[in-house]
Amino acid sequence: MNIGSWFLSIAAEMECLSTEDILENAPEHPVEKQDRVVGIASEGLRRGFTLMQKRRKRMNDFVETFTYCDGGEQCRCNEKNLEFIQLKNEIKVLGDIFWNFVREEFPQIAEKSTIGIRANWQIVWVEDIHPHLGILQDLAINLLLTRTRLGKHRDS
Ligand SMILES: [Zn+2]
Repeated sequence: MNIGSWFLSIAAEMECLSTEDILENAPEHPVEKQDRVVGIASEGLRRGFTLMQKRRKRMNDFVETFTYCDGGEQCRCNEKNLEFIQLKNEIKVLGDIFWNFVREEFPQIAEKSTIGIRANWQIVWVEDIHPHLGILQDLAINLLLTRTRLGKHRDS
């Protein structure tokens, strides 16, 4: 599948989701103490979330139906691996797009580091109860990036 047909198929699939699909895949996690509700997800966001959930369920089924392979003639491991990687990547991409549009529709939380979706389609941002940890995490990530870059430089 090329990039154009992927976008078209995703759009078509989103369009075709039924009310039951959306109900079945609705977020269930209740609003918690640190959550700050900013609004309710639009129809478009609900469809995007549903699609993502459906892919996640497919991934779960994939993992659950995984069977041991003896490497014989029936082996389909390469195909299965590829399918798994594609599914995993698709979930990642759909997630990135979804959260990007949550921030687009709720610009007041665009810069919050942790946002979420809760029961009854409530969009929240999560108050950081340990703000200093965030700074430490940033430092650790920067250090890791620097090391990786140095590592690559040494190898090449
Ligand atoms: Zn195999």
